[in-house]
Parts: sequence; C-alpha cells; structure tokens
Amino acid sequence: MTDADSIRHVPHASPTSAEARRALMQNPGFGKVFSDHMVTFTWNAEKGWHDGEVKARAPFAIDPAAAVLHYAQEIFEGMKAYRTKDGIVLFRPEENARRMAQSAERMAMPPVPEDMFIDAVETLVRTDADWVPEGDGSLYLRPFIFASEAFLGVRPALQYIFCVIASPVGAYFKGGYKAVTVWVSDDYTRAAPGGTGAAKCGGNYAASLIAQAEANRNDCDQVVFLDAAEHRWVEELGGMNVCFVMDDGRLVTPPLGGTILPGITRASVLLLAREAGLRIEERPYSFEEWKADAESGKLREAFACGTAAVVAGIGEVRFNGGSFTIGNSGDGPVTGRLRDALVGIQRGTAEDRHGWVHRVE
Ligand SMILES: *Cc1c(COP(=O)(O)O)cnc(C)c1O
Repeated sequence: MTDADSIRHVPHASPTSAEARRALMQNPGFGKVFSDHMVTFTWNAEKGWHDGEVKARAPFAIDPAAAVLHYAQEIFEGMKAYRTKDGIVLFRPEENARRMAQSAERMAMPPVPEDMFIDAVETLVRTDADWVPEGDGSLYLRPFIFASEAFLGVRPALQYIFCVIASPVGAYFKGGYKAVTVWVSDDYTRAAPGGTGAAKCGGNYAASLIAQAEANRNDCDQVVFLDAAEHRWVEELGGMNVCFVMDDGRLVTPPLGGTILPGITRASVLLLAREAGLRIEERPYSFEEWKADAESGKLREAFACGTAAVVAGIGEVRFNGGSFTIGNSGDGPVTGRLRDALVGIQRGTAEDRHGWVHRVE
C-alpha cells in the first residue's frame, strides 16, 4: 500500500443503534438492508485512484451528465463476508479483485489494484463488523466502479468513483434447499462473441431483465440463456453458471469463452468436483442434448452456482412449447455434496485445503 491508497476514516454522525440494527437484521431478505458505512475512492488521470475514505453511507452527488447515466460505463463485484466460530472471513477475495480488473479492462475503465480492492473490502467489513449476521446469513459486499465525468461525448470517461457498500442478507433458500425451476429463453440472448458477457457489468443485467421477467411470468425462478449465434448451446443463467451431472460420473459445464461470466463459485465447484472423483468436461452442451439426456435418464442432476445461492439444484426446465424434469426433480445427491463441501469451507466447518478463506478479523 502506498500512502495515496490508504483509507481515511470519517466518523459517522449517527450510526444505527444496536437495537435498530438487530430489528433490521431479523429478516433482511436480499439487498434491501444496508450497513452504516461505505468506502469510496476517486480516479482521475492526474492522480489515479486517490482520496480513499470510509464514511457514512449516503447518496452520491453526481452531475446529470455523468457518463454512467448515458453510456453505462459501470462494473461491479459480488462477494460475502461470513461469521465463523473463529472470526469474520471472506472467500477468495483476490479472485474478485482480479476479475474486477479484467472487467475494467473490457469496459475501458481504470483497474483497481488488487491490494487497494482487498483493503477497501476489509476496511468496510471491519468498520461494519456488527452487520455480519450470525447463523446462515452473511454480509453481501458490493464493490463497483462507475464513470462520474460530466461529458456527453462518446469515449472512455476521465473520472471514476470506486465504492464498496454492504448488505446483510439471509439464507438464499428460506426453510431449506429446494430445487429451482428455470425458463429457457428463445427470444433473448445475454451475450454475443466479442461482447461484454465475460465482464461483470451492469449493462449485461439491464439486457437480461426482460428475459427474467418472462421467466417469472412462466412461474420460473431463473432464466437460462442460449448462445447468441445459433440459439443452440446452453450458456448460463441470468446471474449464475450451470453444471450437469451425468450417470457415468461426468460433470459437464459450458466452457468460458468470452460470452460466459467466469464465476468464482463455478471455478471452486469444478475443483471440488474433480477432487471428489468426477470427470470434468468443459464443453459446449446443447439444449437438445439437455432435453434428450434428461428424458433418457443419462442426466442425473443439474445445478446453478454463484455467490448469492452458492449451489442450487435445477428440478424442472420450461421453454416455449414444453417442459422436462431432471432426475427426481429435487436437489440431487452430488449437488448436495458439492454444496456442503463448499459451504463447509466458507463457514469454517470443513478444512480449507486450498487457502480459499481470507480472515478479516
Ligand atoms: C456474478 C455472476 C456469476 C457468478 O459468479 P460468482 O463469482 O460465482 O458469484 C455468474 N453469472 C453472471 C452473469 C454473473 O454476473
């Protein structure tokens, strides 16, 4: 860390009382309750990233011509702090730092150095440690960068803000795990070759919302996107990667190739699955194969994976003109074992053989 990167503490004038905080954290849901503080840094060409502060969470004053509002130059990350028996931990935060730098490159934005990213996240977690839930909740952390320059010309902005906010969240599945139902979108695609599919940018989500709404209209929890060129190959869900468990011990998952977001949960699950003796095939898998394999029984389980839900079994697949179920339509045994293995490491109840757990305090 250089001095320019260090984070100044600005005291909070009226932090939430312990009693009010406990009430807010009783049943927080997802992304609705926020902790007291935020971390911010500013970037300009002359000084680079500077003016790091941790202070009361408050609205930004940005110019109506701020480039992000017009051309969507914005990227984000999503990660969680967990309360374990030994203290508060993060899961592979350096992977989030690295991915955010890659997203920044794709979106022509200045990358945040890895040590500054980790320092910002740790500082917020330490400052708002009381907001990290007990039990099976966690403190969801949202680092993001946006173009704040007031300029309507089209080029990469010359001013940015990096910010981290935090939100206590409950268990993704209230009252125990259950398999999700997914909708395969015909009309919409998420990402095309050469596009921004591998960058974690807000624009990808803006483009996915209409398809997610269509999924919800069809009583599905999540949307599955097929590739943009042929509408044939399974890519991923709106915000989660997807894996298929076969009856002969293979685990098939679509390959990263620019149109799929490289999930940290995906990478972790693939390693744990390989160690558990599954054969990993990262290869294109078509919707036709998915349907045929589910109907023949060759496909035993399918699951979605990402930071929010960790690992979620897929029980039923719906599409224009039909539907099919997978295995026993429930949360399968391999899915359950992989989830338990990963959650165990994150929660400090299983050995961390890969050095994935990053102690904050
Ligand atoms: C964030 C994200 C994922 C999951 O990534 P994790 O690092 O596992 O949380 C998957 N797909 C999309 C589109 C995402 O934005």
